[in-house]
Amino acid sequence: MKTAVSFSLATRYYCPSCGRSYAIDQHQTFADCCLQPLFTDYDLSAITRDKLHHRRQDMWRYHELLPVQDSRHIVSLGEGWTPLRKLSATSQALGLKHLLLKDESTNPTGSFKARGISVAISRLKELGIEKCIMPTAGNAGGALSAYAAKAGIQATVVMPRHSAETLKAECDALGAELILVDGLIDACGKKAREIAAQSGATDLSTLKEPYRLEGKKTLGYEIAEQLGWQLPDVIIYPTGGGTGLIGMWKAFQEMRTLGWITGKMPRMIIVQSENCNPMIQMFDTGMLPDSFEPAPSVALGLAVPSPFAKDQIQKTVRESSGTAVTIREQDLATGIREFASREGILLSPEGSAAYMGLKKLIEKDYIQEDETVVLFNTGSWYKYR
Ligand SMILES: *Cc1c(COP(=O)(O)O)cnc(C)c1O
Repeated sequence: MKTAVSFSLATRYYCPSCGRSYAIDQHQTFADCCLQPLFTDYDLSAITRDKLHHRRQDMWRYHELLPVQDSRHIVSLGEGWTPLRKLSATSQALGLKHLLLKDESTNPTGSFKARGISVAISRLKELGIEKCIMPTAGNAGGALSAYAAKAGIQATVVMPRHSAETLKAECDALGAELILVDGLIDACGKKAREIAAQSGATDLSTLKEPYRLEGKKTLGYEIAEQLGWQLPDVIIYPTGGGTGLIGMWKAFQEMRTLGWITGKMPRMIIVQSENCNPMIQMFDTGMLPDSFEPAPSVALGLAVPSPFAKDQIQKTVRESSGTAVTIREQDLATGIREFASREGILLSPEGSAAYMGLKKLIEKDYIQEDETVVLFNTGSWYKYR
């Protein structure tokens, strides 16, 4: 007898520290048992990768591995399946043979935040949730405003006052309620929690719900598929809250279990600006020194003073034998100009951080010339005006 094939193979949410299960058919927040983000578990015996042929050219091609139960609830603007560009001129200049750019600036609303938000808003729609709120440095708020508008869900976005004008105007034009706060994203998070407690809006803060992580995970599936089911040796990721980093690492484990990939896993590198680099400062001891004083960065998405998922970020870097790199704040502008003049591509400040991090690692002999390296451009330069 043939049983119906499920649209999603998700079976449960679980705490990555103690393994405790959380019900898949209800809205979930985070693992309150161990104060960790929730991970989603799937029945990984039920899908082969040849199923992917002829699928839609966006991240929903991996729908079995996402938590949305019914295709009718998908809220999509065409996110994902972004180009993995060969960087010939930069490869040559830096003495590398295989340097690639995963260019996420081509996503709806101009950043990779679209991936996570598409899954989160789809799931909220599926659960009949009508109101949501999110603290953001800027890009996540823009994505939230767009997907919430399409879904007919009410969105409130809480953003630092110092964020770029375009990022603020975008939320407003898309019909979201915009609240500006003096301070970094942690201050916005506090404000968002206060408002949520009053209004009952669902809080979509980074990794305080399980859906955005699964959406960002598709980065890992795409890189593997675009490289013919091979993984690169090194991935350089400009890190704020760590969603993409943790998500990719989860995707690689899943693909290994699925038998879609074999062999060595990439070394996962995180890059932050000196203005706010808690993950680098914590790297050795797991603790922030008393002297840590976070300041705003031009790389808005990286200025997260106290990432909720810091344990999982550290675990990913350690397990992958990766490392953590700090770059100087003024390097962000230098990197944008240098990269643009060689490649004709404008990086977001965060993408520039990844590029300057790569240069630093090459200087330290951390990367060998024949290794395959994937750099991330996580957002669009055009939004930082
Ligand atoms: C949010 C953001 C980041 C950081 O992403 P995480 O996955 O949360 O670490 C990097 N770059 C840009 C452009 C962003 O908007």
